[in-house]
Amino acid sequence: MPLQDNPNIEVGWVKAHIGIAGNEATDELVKKATKEGPKFDIPAPKSYLKKLLKTASLQKWQTDWDEGEIRRLIHNTIPKVSDIPSPWTREVIQFATGHGPFPCFFKRFNLYHRNHCDSREVGDPRHFATTCGLTVFHMLKPSDHLTEQCWKSCLSNKYSRSKIIQLVNFLTNNEV
Ligand SMILES: [Zn+2]
Repeated sequence: MPLQDNPNIEVGWVKAHIGIAGNEATDELVKKATKEGPKFDIPAPKSYLKKLLKTASLQKWQTDWDEGEIRRLIHNTIPKVSDIPSPWTREVIQFATGHGPFPCFFKRFNLYHRNHCDSREVGDPRHFATTCGLTVFHMLKPSDHLTEQCWKSCLSNKYSRSKIIQLVNFLTNNEV
């Protein structure tokens, strides 16, 4: 008997599927329908397609990020791509990328006549953060074999990041 011909349908919750005759029969019919039933060509919902697209683009981005040859320091610090904004401020990004108020960066684009600081050492972010005599926001200079690891933990640490922000702001406002 087709379902719509029965005016007395009662819907109720049953504790378990096993052992109840109606339920067993329903299970059988569901199994049969999935194997033998007509095929429907139902378009996928928009939300599903959006999710698919997002996953694919994140995967592509991750591959590019893993295989790229530049920005290794940032890759080491943030190995996994994400569409959630990072807690890094503009200053921390400038420090990590080197694209900020550093003689090295300015010289590269011919915006400055030298790539060293006033004390004649290479004016890159790491120099200013560790040994430069003209800045006061120093961190301990890591030994060579620990350099990457050290910068990674430094950039992941909230307190160190606040020192970096002060340093970059100092360099922005002062010529060194
Ligand atoms: Zn210096």
